[in-house]
Amino acid sequence: MGMMEIIETHSALSFAIEKAQKQGLSLGFVPTMGALHEGHESLMKRAASENDLTLVSIYVNPKQFNDPLDFEAYPRSLQSDLEILNLNNIDFVFLPRYEELFTADKQVPAIDFMGLDSRLEGASRPGHFKGVVEVVYALFKMIEPTRAYFGLKDFQQVAIIRQMISLLSLPVELVACPTHREISGLARSSRNKRLNDKEKEEALVIYKTLCFIRDNYNYLDLDDLLTQAKQLFRASSLTLDYLAIVDPTTLSNRKNNNEDALACIAAFCGPVRLIDNMPLIAR
Ligand code: AMP
Repeated sequence: MGMMEIIETHSALSFAIEKAQKQGLSLGFVPTMGALHEGHESLMKRAASENDLTLVSIYVNPKQFNDPLDFEAYPRSLQSDLEILNLNNIDFVFLPRYEELFTADKQVPAIDFMGLDSRLEGASRPGHFKGVVEVVYALFKMIEPTRAYFGLKDFQQVAIIRQMISLLSLPVELVACPTHREISGLARSSRNKRLNDKEKEEALVIYKTLCFIRDNYNYLDLDDLLTQAKQLFRASSLTLDYLAIVDPTTLSNRKNNNEDALACIAAFCGPVRLIDNMPLIAR
């Protein structure tokens, strides 16, 4: 097992990648914004188990923050991140710089997302997915990974990246990984670092509401189900941004419960915006 290499320039990255490619080694890539937690670690472990080499990028991408204050407040913890990466036997850590990432030769072609990017997060955070697509495309071009690992906590992001890979025929396999939760059920998120214990307890209403929807999906009509779920929410200290039951392929609202679906929530706990989702199985 080699030492973890920290890569900060495009030339150092190209050198490392070329060496791996010449030896015919597969490369698993996990893009992150740092403030690493067990959710990220589950992606890293999967990548390590399926590839000869693993690369994790850490980049807080300004382009995907529609709110500059949210960008400022986003947790950053490079030293402890590097320790976590070391413990997970990651081969390469890539810390790109804006100037080398967003160059003219790595500009993403126009893609028809067929509305995937305009619903849910797209509606609430204008420009967010444009920023995500730009950074992931540029990272794919630089890194040329064999496989790329994304978390289903960001279900819509997975759908959009899948569409980008498909329409542009990018030579990378997308691996979608299940949402990692705390014992309580709270989905792990870097943003949880901004919550105190009491707020984390209150934020559980998100998971509880998703479970309520899952458990009653086959027994109530969808309007009643959504109304009751929203009531649960109103009794909490969180502010709902959206609650939707959608078709997992198109992300458009489901009208009835005769097919599988996905329940999606975004909510504010104070200034901290949290998202989560849960699959719904039709009987
Ligand atoms: P982020 O650093 O928040 O941009 O996340 C980097 C990657 O980790 C994305 O693909 C996320 O979907 C994924 N991720 C974040 N939280 C979790 C979680 N709780 N479980 C699984 N994957 C996650």
